[in-house]
Amino acid sequence: MTEKLSSDDLERRFLDLQENLKTVRGRIAEAAARSGRKPEDVTLLAATKTVPVEVINRGVALGIDHIGENRVQEMLGKYESYDLSRCTLHFIGHLQKNKIKYLVGRVSMIESVDQEKLAQEISRLSEKRHLVTDLLIEVNIGEEESKSGVLPRELSGLIERIAPLPGIRIRGLMAIPPAGAPEAETRNYFCRMHQYFVDIKSKKIDNVSMDLLSMGMSADYPLAIQEGANLVRVGTALFGPRNYQK
Ligand SMILES: *Cc1c(COP(=O)(O)O)cnc(C)c1O
Repeated sequence: MTEKLSSDDLERRFLDLQENLKTVRGRIAEAAARSGRKPEDVTLLAATKTVPVEVINRGVALGIDHIGENRVQEMLGKYESYDLSRCTLHFIGHLQKNKIKYLVGRVSMIESVDQEKLAQEISRLSEKRHLVTDLLIEVNIGEEESKSGVLPRELSGLIERIAPLPGIRIRGLMAIPPAGAPEAETRNYFCRMHQYFVDIKSKKIDNVSMDLLSMGMSADYPLAIQEGANLVRVGTALFGPRNYQK
C-alpha cells in the first residue's frame, strides 16, 4: 500500500513536494482572493493515501497542518509515525461501522459520515472514551450510484436526526463531485453544495456549527474555493501521481 523509497527517491520527493506546496498555496491564495477571502480562510488538507510517512512528515515540517487518510488499515500502519504534535489527522475515506473503533480517539475529524447508524457508532464510542468527535456529513452531490454520501434530498433530515447525539459535533459538509465532468457542471455541484451549507447553517441547529465546507481536490480545488469551499483536500498536486504497486 505505502511505497518503499530509496534515499535518492526520497530526496527527490522532498524537493518536488516543496515546489508543489508553493504552487498549491499560490493557487489557493489566488482563488481565495477571487472570492473575496484571505488565503488563511482556506485550509489545505493533504490527502496522504499511499504516501510514505517520511514524505508526509516532510510536508508537515514545511507547514502542512492537516492530513487525511482514506483507508483504516493504511492509517493504522502509519499512525505511530505521523508527527501529530504538528498536524491534525482526518479520516476522509469510505466509512464502515466495524472500523469506527479504530478511528475514534485517533483522528480529529471524520469527514465521511453519510448514515445515521455510523453517526450513532461514533457517538457511542466517543461517549465511552469521554471524547467529542468532530464530523462532516458527506453528500453524494452527483447522485452517483457507486458513490458514498447522503443524497441531497435526505441531507437535512439526516442532520436533524444526528445532531442531538452526544459525543459528536457536526462541523460541516464534504463532497466529491463526479470525476471528469465539464468545468461548468463541476462548478454547479460546488455551487449547490455551498447553498446547502448556507441553508443548514442558517437553521442554527443545536450542536451543528457548519463552519467547514470540504470540497475540491487536485483537479478542481481553485474552482471549489471560488464557489465557497474553505477546506480543500489535495493529494496528487502535492505528492505526485499515486503508486499503488507496492
Ligand atoms: C484521494 C482523495 C483526495 C485527493 O485526490 P487528488 O485528486 O489526488 O488530489 C481528496 N479527497 C478524498 C476523499 C480522496 O480520497
